[in-house]
Amino acid sequence: MERMFSVLKFGGSSVASATNMSRVLDLVEKEASGRRVILVASAISGCTNALLSGDPAQVDEMEKRHRSIVKRLFTGGEQLAVQQRTDALFRELREAPEEEKVTYGEILSTTLLDAKLKAEGYRTCWLDSRELVVRDDEQKTFANIAAAVSAAPEVEVFVAPGFICRSAEGRVCTLGRGGSDYSAALYAAAVQAASLQIWTDVPGIMTTNPRQVSRARTIPRMSYDAALQMAGHGAKVLYAPTVAPAMQAGIAIEILNTFAPEGGKTVISADVRETGPVGLASQEKGSVSEICLVHSSELTRAEEALTQAGIAPLRLWEEEGNLLLTVRPAVEKMALQALHRAFFEVLPVKEVCLFIAGYGAVGKALAQMVDRTGPTVEERTGKVLRLVGVANSRQYSIDLGGHPGAPCREGDYVAEVCARAPKGSVFVDCTNSETLYQRYPELFAAGLNVVSSNRRSFAVPYATYALLHAAARENGAFFRYETTVGAALPILESISRGTNSCDEVLSIEAVVSCTLNQILGDYRPGGESFASLVRKAQEAGLTEPDPRQDLGGRDALRKLLILAREAGVRLEEEEVEVTPVIPKELFDVPMERFYEDLEAAEPLFAAAGREADVQGFRRRFVASLEKTPSGGFRAGIGIRNVPPVHPAYHLRGTENAIIVRSAFHPYPLVIQGPGEGAREAASSILNDILR
Ligand code: ADP
Ligand code: ASP
Ligand code: MG
Repeated sequence: MERMFSVLKFGGSSVASATNMSRVLDLVEKEASGRRVILVASAISGCTNALLSGDPAQVDEMEKRHRSIVKRLFTGGEQLAVQQRTDALFRELREAPEEEKVTYGEILSTTLLDAKLKAEGYRTCWLDSRELVVRDDEQKTFANIAAAVSAAPEVEVFVAPGFICRSAEGRVCTLGRGGSDYSAALYAAAVQAASLQIWTDVPGIMTTNPRQVSRARTIPRMSYDAALQMAGHGAKVLYAPTVAPAMQAGIAIEILNTFAPEGGKTVISADVRETGPVGLASQEKGSVSEICLVHSSELTRAEEALTQAGIAPLRLWEEEGNLLLTVRPAVEKMALQALHRAFFEVLPVKEVCLFIAGYGAVGKALAQMVDRTGPTVEERTGKVLRLVGVANSRQYSIDLGGHPGAPCREGDYVAEVCARAPKGSVFVDCTNSETLYQRYPELFAAGLNVVSSNRRSFAVPYATYALLHAAARENGAFFRYETTVGAALPILESISRGTNSCDEVLSIEAVVSCTLNQILGDYRPGGESFASLVRKAQEAGLTEPDPRQDLGGRDALRKLLILAREAGVRLEEEEVEVTPVIPKELFDVPMERFYEDLEAAEPLFAAAGREADVQGFRRRFVASLEKTPSGGFRAGIGIRNVPPVHPAYHLRGTENAIIVRSAFHPYPLVIQGPGEGAREAASSILNDILR
């Protein structure tokens, strides 16, 4: 059986130098090992323009470039012969009628390629496109080519100049600028080629011209129509008339990059149907630039994108399934960039599955927030969050489809999560559990990340804390807990950023007990008693079930441990000097007696309050860490009188403040704002998930 044909066309830059021609020949020779090849080539880059310029100096320059290619491509007697042939062609060119001069570019380049293939031992045949290709008569052209090819059954590689042809009247002429692509399609259709490859200097047809928009990307598969629209509206990577003969012959067109053959490419064929916008093409139309968004009618979206970029199109309309607009040439590039961003730079969406543990106020607020913010989050971050698991302390529910419902199954939630979670899922601990953290390493090992708002997990010895971090690191997982101090305030992140950049924390003052900030802020000596304010706070749900947990500084201690460790200080619980807000004896009495005894201690609070008032200070519950002159750290928790210049002086209600002094900066970093609330906690967790 007759071996099938491949038609390979190489553009001007692909044959621009001896080095490039060698690449071309490598590609051709590879193809020739399995098929008969028709090699179609353009003139070397710049040649057509030079010949059209009518400037003899430019012709001389071209002669030099061809000579140098010959020198580098051939040696000895071959070099001499090819040089003589080239010289003869340049003599012919200089004497040719003005309108025929332009046709010599392709004759020259293909003459060199043909000679080199012959020199390498291939049976080749140079086809004279001026004889075979008849402009505006494809049938005649097909017949001519088919006849020429069948007349030379021994030939392995035919070499044919692109671009040039003759008219029906027999005059030598061209197929129009960029016409070599079309020549290739004509040769391919004439021999019913199995493959038509257009080799150029870009990896296929891209979403727009990569010279104008660097983020343009290759369109891997296209329909003939989409390719025709792109080409017809100015994407010069393909000459529009190329499409029809290939389509009619049922031949796929491949567009490939000579300079990265294994990289991206476009395949244009009959089995592709685009469903959305394909790409952007642009061309000059008189005094304006016309931009075409191929296969799209999304007028509003285009308008919005342009408005955002501050561009007002001169005209914007729909035509034959495409969106067209004109702009001033000065803003063409900007318009292309804006439209490209809006239509082709949508980030690939990454789905993240969430497993929540602790389905109380915070867990529920988080679930709601994930649900409500979905579209915004997707647009802003390219991530789709899917809540797939929820659990309270007794039951759980998992549905990878995203509808877990309320917790209803008994069993080991963590084990089930480890077994079923897609890698990269996030486990959110918003429980009050004092033991759940022991299972974090299991979760990390199963490919999950952990986000926690549960600070009880951190009131552990430093070694345990370090182990949790190591387990996360070893598994390439993240472990975040911004929520554990100051709810939604970006405190931990700010501290660890400094630590990461080798800034050294000199001191931290944290006014982070919402309960005590509220109580101390409201307290006035002689007014409502301290005991009564504590009771009110308890009733408002601001305290732990036993308010003495707060008054004893337990919660502040946990926060201080976290802060210190984030700052790189290996602080242990025993090293913190805690001065409780209430007399020690009150910790041991039963709850019923507690308020009575607290009321009885009122003179103590009143006296301390008055003393502060006299000095113009305010009383704040401060957890602090301070570098000592000996290089160690001193940590303490207790009430302090702060002067008006102190950032914590002005705190309102349950506000939190944190003041960090560090070696790099003369003034402290102060973060202040709302420090509690289920919604604040949920937003902080969400940000840990998305960060
Ligand atoms: P050749 O000489 O190989 O025929 P052309 O210069 O005619 O090459 O066409 C390739 C050029 O087309 C690229 O270098 C690129 O600047 C331009 N171009 C315009 N639009 C596109 C597009 N959508 N995708 C790829 N290239 C494009
Ligand atoms: N050499 C011709 C041109 O520059 C044809 C082509 O490259 O396709 O227009
Ligand atoms: Mg071209």
